[in-house]
Amino acid sequence: MTDQLTTSGLPSDPLFIAYMTVFQTAAEHLLACEECQAARPCPVGDPLHADFLAKQAAWENQQYRKARNERRRAQRKAEARSRMARHAAGLLVTFGPWKDGRPAATPADVARQANAMYGGYLKGEPITTTEGAAALEAVLNH
Ligand SMILES: [Zn+2]
Repeated sequence: MTDQLTTSGLPSDPLFIAYMTVFQTAAEHLLACEECQAARPCPVGDPLHADFLAKQAAWENQQYRKARNERRRAQRKAEARSRMARHAAGLLVTFGPWKDGRPAATPADVARQANAMYGGYLKGEPITTTEGAAALEAVLNH
């Protein structure tokens, strides 16, 4: 929920603000209205409750879409990084030295090679030794 707050600590998301505003209005009405408390929505309360449900749904849908887009972005990023690391591993396996029937390249070598080749695309998040190991594995077992 922290992304709903600006640096000043106030909500910035219009859907969230609308949701919270109608939540407050509907809650205040409910506290003051015996009809609505008895689950017999009055002509004032009925649209308020409907509006609350609609704005709650709109905000929740937005949160769902944001989370889904975030997952997709993360997935695309992981795939792109994996391609870069596999490219580096492929070069080291194909053109680098071999020892005892295995490429001499280590996961750290793969990471170094990938970072040298793709540093500009990695936006300050270098390929890790773990990613290098996975790439080496993928290239050797492809
Ligand atoms: Zn009412």
